This record gives sequence, structure tokens and C-alpha cells, in this order.
Amino acid sequence: MPRGPFQPASSTVLRAGRLFDGERFVDTPLVQIDDGSIVAVGADVDQELPVVDLGDVTLMPGIVDCHQHLVFDGDGTLEDQVADQTDGELAERAWQHARQALVGGITTVRDLGDRGFVTLALRGDRELPTLLCAGPPITPVGGHCWFLGGEVSSRDGLTSAVEERVERGCDVVKIMATGGFGTPGSPPWRSQFTADDVAHVTDLAHAAGLPVAAHCHGEEGIRHAVDAGVDTIEHCSFMNEPLTPDPEPQLLEDLAASGIALSATFGRCADAPPPPAALANATPLVRAAMRRVLELGGNLVVGSDAGINPPKPHDIAPRAIHDLMTVGMTPVEALAALTSGGADALRLPDKGRVRAGADADLVTVDGDPRDDPDAVTRIVDVWRCGVPVDRTDAPR
Ligand SMILES: [Zn+2]
Repeated sequence: MPRGPFQPASSTVLRAGRLFDGERFVDTPLVQIDDGSIVAVGADVDQELPVVDLGDVTLMPGIVDCHQHLVFDGDGTLEDQVADQTDGELAERAWQHARQALVGGITTVRDLGDRGFVTLALRGDRELPTLLCAGPPITPVGGHCWFLGGEVSSRDGLTSAVEERVERGCDVVKIMATGGFGTPGSPPWRSQFTADDVAHVTDLAHAAGLPVAAHCHGEEGIRHAVDAGVDTIEHCSFMNEPLTPDPEPQLLEDLAASGIALSATFGRCADAPPPPAALANATPLVRAAMRRVLELGGNLVVGSDAGINPPKPHDIAPRAIHDLMTVGMTPVEALAALTSGGADALRLPDKGRVRAGADADLVTVDGDPRDDPDAVTRIVDVWRCGVPVDRTDAPR
């Protein structure tokens, strides 16, 4: 059985059976941590220090989930999930979900849609993952997820919506560039904004130093987002009415060349049917398009969309390893997408890597994911900035 998490004192060296540093496996599986940070890795560790042997596990960076909804609990329609809740109740629920993510090995979570900006106040809590928060997604009146409170009705409305997010200190601006599943009357393939609108929001956000995450199921919306130069494209399902993806080769080339991260809606419980948004990312044509973007040198990361329904609990992201392999990644490439890839997409240089200077956000997993990809779903221990996370109640 796995041992309890070790509380590192200052300047401790951890030794594991294997070490994945966010990009590759390191020959000498040693990590020196001090006061919440990693100070040396592999052969560079101070040989004089005491060594704590973690046993036959793989030590790796904590997992980065680029797309969650901490206020959703998966019970009923998206609208029903928040309808009868006060903001205070949603904040409490969001805390519990963020905690569930951390216990599950996800040390960085980007929330791409709350209500009432309730998730922002959770940032900085060391009992939770590092959180990046968008507040309510920007959407047209009656558009996808309108019930989260981010409705706008004009160009001026878009301007003030971005300004409000800047003033409130959001980490990212989320725009619903196309319709989505789960909101009646917002067909997922249909653009909700013009190309000019998406560019306007992107330019304003970038001028204020904020990245933009664009929710896009429709191919036209993806084109708008690529041309606008957003930072991540969520879902990226390449849909056209009637739901048959057949993306223009030029779009795939432009997406790959743009460097925009494709945040794929990957990861689900094996014993429950996937939600439509995840199914849209699971069709052979979409997987082929994603594979092509990767072949062209594009960037694909994991945004689980956790919270939207029961197959998407907030600790689901590690299971995305199987989806990542279906688009052509090796297990090592998939591990990188779940760690350093996500951290890069979120502009967090101190996350997602085991390297000197990075935060000691670490997990150990039971087994070697190179031979047994499912090992990454068997989390043994989790450290958040060097502090072990109590996993007593975690499912094993
Ligand atoms: Zn979402």
C-alpha cells in the first residue's frame, strides 16, 4: 500500500522509482525541494542532504486542467445546476470542487465560467490548486450559458464586459464564440459573435494584459478565434451544421501555425456516457483533425470541462491520457500535455515542470505511465508548493 505523504522539511531530497520532469523522464530520479520550491533535479541535487525514498512510484509535476467549471455539480441541466443557488452557496461548492481536484493530483485549475465572479476569492488558498479564473463567460443575450450572467447586447457591451473583468482582476477573458451544448437555442456550430466582435474582445483583453479563451464548437467560430489571435480555443470541435466536421485544411494549418493552444475536452469516467461536448471531441473526424494539427506542429492541451455532468467530476483530467493517445501522442507526449503543455498554455512558467525554480507542485503515481498509461490515474501522493495534501478520503 502507498505510504502516507511525506512532509518535507527545508532542503530535502526526494527519490522515486522514476522521475518525469514535465517533458521527459530523467535518468537520476532525485528532486531537491526547499520551502515550497524545487531547487535542484537529478544529478544536480546536494548529495549531502538526507534522502527520502518515496518507493516504486513515478514522481512528476502536478496536473494542469485548462478548463473546469467549479460552480457546476453535474446534477441536471447546466441552468438547473446554478438556478437555485446563492452566490455564497456556489462559492462553497466551488471550494469543495477545487479541493477534489487537488486531492486528485490536479495542482492547477483554470475556471472558465462561474457566476457572480465567485471563484476569484478562492485564489491563493493553499488548500486548493492554483486557480486562474475567468468569471462569467461573455455571451450574447440568451446565448450559451447566459444564466451565468455574462450577457452582452452590443459592441459597447463587449467593451464594458472586458473592462469589468480587468477591474475585478480576472486572470483570463472567456468568450462564447459559438453556441454550445446544454443551452437550448444555442446550436453549437453557430457563431454567436462576428469576427470583428471576437477581435475586439481579444484586442481589448490583450491591451490589458489578459489572455482570451474562446469557446468554439463551430468551424466558423474557430476561424474567427484564430484570426483574432486568441490564446486558447476550447473544445475546437470543427462543427458545421448538421454536426458533420470537415474542416478546411487551411484552417488546420493556420491553427497550428498560430501557436494557439487547442484545449481539448478530454477525460471522462469510463463507466458513464460522455456529455455531448465531450462526444463532439471524440468523433473520428474531429480526432483526425486534431491529429493533423499536432502533425503540423500545433499545440494541444487538456481542458476537461469538469463539472458539466456526472462523467466529468473535478478530478477527471488524468484520464485524458487515453484521449491524448488516440490523437497520436505517445505516453510521454501525453504526460507533457497534461503538465508542461498546460502550464505553457496558461503562461505559468513555475508550474507543470520539475526544474530548479519551479513550485514544488508534485504528484506520485503508482506504476510507469510509459508502459501502463493508466498509471497516471492512480495518484499516490500530492504536494502543493511542497506541502503534502491530505488524501485520506480520496478514492484509491
Ligand atoms: Zn466549459
